[in-house]
Amino acid sequence: MSTVPLIVKILASSVSVANRAGKIVRDVMSKGELGIVEKGKDDYQTEADRSAQKCIIASLSSQYPKLKIIGEEEESPENEGDIPSDWIVVEEDKDVLGVKCPVNLQAVKEEDIVVWVDPLDGTSEYTQGFLEHVTVLIGISVNEKPVAGVIHQPYYKTLVGGEKKMGRTIWGLQGAGVGGYTPAPPPDSLIITTTRSHSNPVVEQALQVMNASHVLRVGGAGYKVLQLLEGRASVYVFASPGCKKWDTCAPEAILSAAGGKLTDIIGNFYKYGASVSHPNKTGVLAAVNDELHSYALSRIPQELKDTLANK
Ligand code: AMP
Ligand code: MG
Ligand code: MG
Repeated sequence: MSTVPLIVKILASSVSVANRAGKIVRDVMSKGELGIVEKGKDDYQTEADRSAQKCIIASLSSQYPKLKIIGEEEESPENEGDIPSDWIVVEEDKDVLGVKCPVNLQAVKEEDIVVWVDPLDGTSEYTQGFLEHVTVLIGISVNEKPVAGVIHQPYYKTLVGGEKKMGRTIWGLQGAGVGGYTPAPPPDSLIITTTRSHSNPVVEQALQVMNASHVLRVGGAGYKVLQLLEGRASVYVFASPGCKKWDTCAPEAILSAAGGKLTDIIGNFYKYGASVSHPNKTGVLAAVNDELHSYALSRIPQELKDTLANK
C-alpha cells in the first residue's frame, strides 16, 4: 500500500500532467492553427486552451475519479470526442512524491478536494506572441482554501547538460514548501506587477496610489505571481473583476507556501469550494510578504474598494 498522502500524490500527478499540457500548448503553436474563439469581450480561447484542459482533466479524473475538477473552458459536445491516448498521463513527479506532507493535510480525502484548472493562462499573450507569459495552472483546494498548486511555463528555456530544454514547473504545498525555481528576495524598491491586456481606469487608479518605482505589465495571473516569487516585483495589484478562481488558486497556493499572501483588494481571502462563483469580483492584491500586503492594502482608497464591492 502506498504511504504517500493523497494530497502529495495529486500534486505529483499535477506536475507531470502540466508538463504534458505544456507540450500540447507548444505543439498547437508550432502547427500554427490556433482556432481562436471569442468567449466574451477581451476573452479568447484557442485550440491549445481546449486541448490542454482535456489532457489535464482526463488524466486527473482517470486516476482520482471522485475528485471535483473545475476547468476554465466549457465542455460543450463539439468540444468532446476522443482524447489521444498519449494525452492521458498517469506518471507522478518523483521529486514531489518525496515531499514531506504537513500533518494537517495527511488525511485529506478525494471528496474534500476541488481542483481549479486554467489550461492556458495568458491567452491574449499566447495569441500575440508573448510566449514567456503563458502558464498552465493547476490549483488544489481543501475546505475552500488553496493548499497546493502548479504553475507550468511551457516556453521557459533552460540548458540541461548543454542541451536546450523547454518548459519548467513550479509547485508549492502549504506547510511543506516550494520547488521548481530559485526563490529570491523582493526588489529594493517597490515594483508592482499588473495586467498588460485588461486595464481600465479603475485598474490604473489603483496603480497610481501605490507610489511604486516601476509598474511591470505582464500577462497572466500565473506569470505575475512568478514575478513575485523570483524577486522581480513585490506586489501584484489588479482592481478589476476579470480574474477567475482558476487564475488565482494555484498562484495563491504557491505564493502562500513561499511566505506571501493573495487576497482581493479589500483584504479578504477568496474561497475555492465547488459551489463558489467563478469571478474574483473584488480584484486581486498579492504580495511577497504580509508587510508589503498591508502597505498596498492601506494605499487603496475606500471608495475604490466600494466601487468593486458594489459592482
Ligand atoms: P491579466 O492580468 O490581464 O493577464 O489577466 C489574468 C487572468 O484574468 C487571465 O486569465 C485573463 O484572461 C483574466 N482576465 C483579466 N481581466 C479580464 C477581463 N476583463 N476579461 C476576461 N478575462 C480577464
Ligand atoms: Mg487565466
Ligand atoms: Mg485560461
